Amino acid sequence: MLTHVPGRAPGTRGERFAVLDPAVGEAFDEAPDQHPDELDAVVDRAHEAWRSWRADPVARTTALLTAADAVEAAGADLALLLTREQGKPLAESYAEIARTAARLRYFAELDPGPQPITDGRPVRSEIRWRPLGPVAAIVPWNFPLQLASAKFAPALAAGNTMVLKPSPFTPLATRLLGSVISTALPEDVLTIVTGREPLGARLASHPGIRHVTFTGSIPTGRAVAEGAAASLARVTLELGGNDAAILLEDVDVERIADRLFWAAFRNCGQVCMAVKRVYAPARLYSQVVEALAQRAKTAVVGAGLDPESQLGPVNNAPQLARVERYTAQALADGARAVAGGHRLDRPGYFFAPTILADVPSDSRVVTEEQFGPVLPVLRYGSLDEAVEAANGTGFGLGGSVWGTDLDRAEAVADRLECGTAWINHHAELSLAQPFAGIKESGVGVAGGPWGLYGNLRPFVVHRPEEA
Ligand code: NAD
Repeated sequence: MLTHVPGRAPGTRGERFAVLDPAVGEAFDEAPDQHPDELDAVVDRAHEAWRSWRADPVARTTALLTAADAVEAAGADLALLLTREQGKPLAESYAEIARTAARLRYFAELDPGPQPITDGRPVRSEIRWRPLGPVAAIVPWNFPLQLASAKFAPALAAGNTMVLKPSPFTPLATRLLGSVISTALPEDVLTIVTGREPLGARLASHPGIRHVTFTGSIPTGRAVAEGAAASLARVTLELGGNDAAILLEDVDVERIADRLFWAAFRNCGQVCMAVKRVYAPARLYSQVVEALAQRAKTAVVGAGLDPESQLGPVNNAPQLARVERYTAQALADGARAVAGGHRLDRPGYFFAPTILADVPSDSRVVTEEQFGPVLPVLRYGSLDEAVEAANGTGFGLGGSVWGTDLDRAEAVADRLECGTAWINHHAELSLAQPFAGIKESGVGVAGGPWGLYGNLRPFVVHRPEEA
């Protein structure tokens, strides 16, 4: 058994790698370390399965609805495994599974029927949406099941088959999910592959794959796009975020503090569109810092399996090291840790929920994505200054504006350069809405009907009105 996750020794086959429980920092199980050469046969089988899967939309709908029921029925086993390898509180694992089932049902019932094109010519022309073929999905470790379902539900509903690779930090719940769903689907329609790099790189660049849908960090997203360019496969990239929350002068701090705190700290801050920076007007600055610090100090941190826990551990050692590094750098830059600021003195990857005040705007915890339970609070003078700072990074995933006058808040939200802007909320997404980061936060659109069309190609038939 191998004990670490990142690179692999080329040429090894039949190996397994250890999967750690982040609440204790020790291995509790292992997963197959599949060799990249195995992908040729996997993609061939996905291609073969595609021939019949694409042909019968009614059978697809039935199969995907049955799969949703199977996911719910397996909820307890899936949730336990997910919490064990990911670290999140059990209730959040259940929420992730409920979202997975809901997404299967949502896409199963979307119908991309034919669309007539009317342009005044004596021609009947029509778009008939066609699937792409075998597609690939590569997902990270923060929401393994929910993000996997965001890939496979629209792809399979559209009539594609899929090869899906979870993160090597969280392969087990996805493998179980794959086998649960496969009880409702024909063989090889959805295949889960697990292993260390270069498995993902080889999957992204495999010549038999027609669409690569990736969620993860910006540098890996770039590598995936480069790999997919070899076969000119379509790419959809959902990448990092550094969402700002701007508090307006008329905000009711006590009223919004809980919501704002959890928008930053849910899943231990390991959410692409968590609030990662707060901008507070100078007059309210101390009150905002205190309100958030008080919540950080009283949040219950513990193992996800403990029903009292509100915050679990960080998922993995490299991520914990990054959180520590960014926090130490901010403190060295002159920030104050008003709550937390350090690892917890216990086994596992626990970091105290941290509120940083007086952080210089060029500190890495502000300019980059910390992806952990650490929140910098920045003071602003004029609103223009706050909007400019919020927009002043290479990221463009989400953002929010918080205040009592909703029209005014909406006018400020309209100025944010990102894919989704919320007022008095953050990171709430409906299955029916498009999800698309801009700038370095993403390429392409997921979610809603747009997510379905992202997995289809238009095939146009022209026919004259008269023979
Ligand atoms: P990561 O980029 O390190 O890994 C993501 C996936 O890519 C994993 O499955 C990994 O094994 C695989 N991978 C690694 N190297 C690869 C390569 N060369 N080619 C192909 N695949 C490769 O990201 P992570 O650390 O697992 O996840 C955290 C990041 O994901 C954060 O930046 C976060 O913001 C982002 N994220 C974005 C969204 C979104 O929807 N925009 C959602 C969740 C997470």
